[in-house]
Amino acid sequence: MKTYKFKGILQNHGWEENVFVTVNDLGIIQKISEDNSADFESVNGFAIPGFQNAHSHAFQYAMAGIAERHENAEVADDFWTWREAMYQLALTMSPDDIEHVATMLYAEMVRHGYTHVAEFHYLHHDKAGNPYSNLAEHGERLVAAAKSAGIKITLVPMFYQKGGFGTEPQPRQRRFISPSPDAYFKLLEASKRVTGLYSGASLAFGIHSLRAVQQEDIVSTMHEGPKDLPFHIHISEQLKEIEDAKTFLKSRPVEWLLNNTNVNTNFHLVHATHLVETEVNGIAAAGAHVVLCPSTEGNLGDGIFPLRDFQKKGGKWSIGTDSHVGLNPLEELRILDYGQRLISHQRNTFIDSAEPDSGAFGYRHALLAGRKAMGNKNEVYFKEGEPFDAVVYDATAPLLASSSISNILSAIIYSGDVTMTLGTVVNGEWIVKNNEHKLRERITGNFISCIKGLNIR
Ligand code: ZN
Repeated sequence: MKTYKFKGILQNHGWEENVFVTVNDLGIIQKISEDNSADFESVNGFAIPGFQNAHSHAFQYAMAGIAERHENAEVADDFWTWREAMYQLALTMSPDDIEHVATMLYAEMVRHGYTHVAEFHYLHHDKAGNPYSNLAEHGERLVAAAKSAGIKITLVPMFYQKGGFGTEPQPRQRRFISPSPDAYFKLLEASKRVTGLYSGASLAFGIHSLRAVQQEDIVSTMHEGPKDLPFHIHISEQLKEIEDAKTFLKSRPVEWLLNNTNVNTNFHLVHATHLVETEVNGIAAAGAHVVLCPSTEGNLGDGIFPLRDFQKKGGKWSIGTDSHVGLNPLEELRILDYGQRLISHQRNTFIDSAEPDSGAFGYRHALLAGRKAMGNKNEVYFKEGEPFDAVVYDATAPLLASSSISNILSAIIYSGDVTMTLGTVVNGEWIVKNNEHKLRERITGNFISCIKGLNIR
């Protein structure tokens, strides 16, 4: 047993001040109370439940921030040219490389306040495109990386079958491909086994995108696939994808999904950037979730999600860091809100009738829909019987030390960054303290020598 005393902890209804949190040896909250008789660690900070990173492609961290030289201004550099660079990277990495890069990435996520990541994983096979003898070799490496970094992981192995709408996979996509639903289900089964290697790991499933699997196989995968796991899919990210879908499917992507699958509360639609009103309404009415990745969507020039319309229909959304050009959850929320402010010329874009505080509003969505993306149905911020996963902000930071309690959360969300944190706790244990991951030296050393070996930066 261990007890912490915090200056404040954030609950669904707001801050509770001067609170003791007692956890058992597994990090499960035993008691949250205002009094305490046991020894305790006094923390002069504000604890909020750890952020949920609902969309990650770990290997892409190896190229974060280095796709910004655009030598010829006359030639379009867009999502599709970026994707070519990403494909080249995907072809070069070994299982060890993937593990080192993912461990570094996940450690950095924890430092920024994420305590759980959904790994949308499609790099399945060896460099020649053959399955490893362990079908989930890379999934196992990702789980191992999460365990080393101290983050929880929901492994989401992806069904990826085609090169594009109606086209066979190209050689450079060879590491991604499952030829049939049966092959994909074998991969899913192997992935389930590797999630058993770490108590912080769980499983979800998904289809990479509508263009990546042929239509009858999407329908049969949804029909025969698990009914109790979160389902993730990239959708409607790029305008070209909408046009291709209209040509090939005679339908817009989300429209096709709504008409051909049982869209429900287990669905997590990644990006869903370009929607018409019937699609916005359909997603919200089905209780499906949208996963927004504002820093990556901005970096790739995707577009701006119609958040205000979605909100009016009661839509639910989470955040993810996708290509990992940004790892700061506060920044994801800000970019998301500011995009809405910029296109509406309003400031009250991030509220609803029940929550007038933008910081509290954005945080609640990101947390609760983020947990659903992981398969965690707990809607209580900190709850006895649940793991104690938190990011703690420094009560002596000037902007917090000078704020009234009612302004603390928005001060964190709208003016904070990682320097405002005291650390991150997962299962009741400090994984990052004073901005330093407990295994920083080893993880960073492995990462740098791996990247030097790949010779890509
Ligand atoms: Zn993605």
